[in-house]
Amino acid sequence: MDKRLYRDFNSYLREVFGCRVQKIVIDAGLTCPNRDGTISRGGCIYCNARGSGSGAASRLQSISEQLEEGKSYLARRYKAKKFLAYFQSFTNTYGPPDRLKQLYEEALSVPDVVGLTIGTRPDCVDEEILEYLGRVGRSRLVWLEYGLQSANNATLALINRGHEAGAFSKAVERTRRRDIPVCAHVILGLPGETRDDMLNTARFLAASPIQAVKIHLLYVVRGTELEHWYLEGHYRCLSRQEYVSIVADFLALLPPQVIIQRLTGDPHPGELVAPLWALEKQINLHAIQTHMQHRGLFQGKEHALTLETSWAG
Ligand code: SF4
Repeated sequence: MDKRLYRDFNSYLREVFGCRVQKIVIDAGLTCPNRDGTISRGGCIYCNARGSGSGAASRLQSISEQLEEGKSYLARRYKAKKFLAYFQSFTNTYGPPDRLKQLYEEALSVPDVVGLTIGTRPDCVDEEILEYLGRVGRSRLVWLEYGLQSANNATLALINRGHEAGAFSKAVERTRRRDIPVCAHVILGLPGETRDDMLNTARFLAASPIQAVKIHLLYVVRGTELEHWYLEGHYRCLSRQEYVSIVADFLALLPPQVIIQRLTGDPHPGELVAPLWALEKQINLHAIQTHMQHRGLFQGKEHALTLETSWAG
């Protein structure tokens, strides 16, 4: 994929650290208020028992063990020299603050781990943790990753997300006050969403003070509510062509400085029900590139046009 069509995360990390930096996915053994009954027991309709984690990390290993294992694999595979501990599965700011700080500190104590990236829900991060992460962020790289998924509240209710888009905006504002960079997660192909709904999410993000975006394809995973909907014919997956074309337009609407951390999902082959084309990551990335080149699109192209239109109006 031609990285000049968008601002990619690896290049950003290289600019900051001067070498290849890889994220190591870890499972901190936490849970989620949308699964433990605090908000709901069902969870988001696409979430499975692993809490939407996609890494190979095991809950039986300590944070340090997971990081050491990840380091030796990624150093061999990518010649990476430095690493970010990625707290991915479930809700990684959900728990007693002292326990959370202990987990983060264990990760930061591992040699060559230069920072943290913490995935969580926007309605689930308290002031004490934000203050703490803001302090850590003065000497280490710290990112918070908030799941927005869609800016459409009707969609968020339909997927049993348990919060509205306003919760995301508030979390971003509180996080940016501490100077912590924010990555927003969005999902394309959510049930009931039109192309316009998805592009409205891009416009919503373009107007938010975020630093990065991860774009995911919604795919159907075994053992989820979405699997029932799919098998009963109540949900249709996006085709590759639809996804590629929406991603291209989505990127064009985002400001050029926003870092794109991901352009599609990474399903587990053993858990994936549909669409099977989601497994063909390189083909999908290539299709997005070709489509963008064909239409003369690049990240920020339509963002500039939107601004010009609004100034003119
Ligand atoms: S917030 Fe994340 S972990 Fe919780 S139910 Fe939704 S996808 Fe699963």
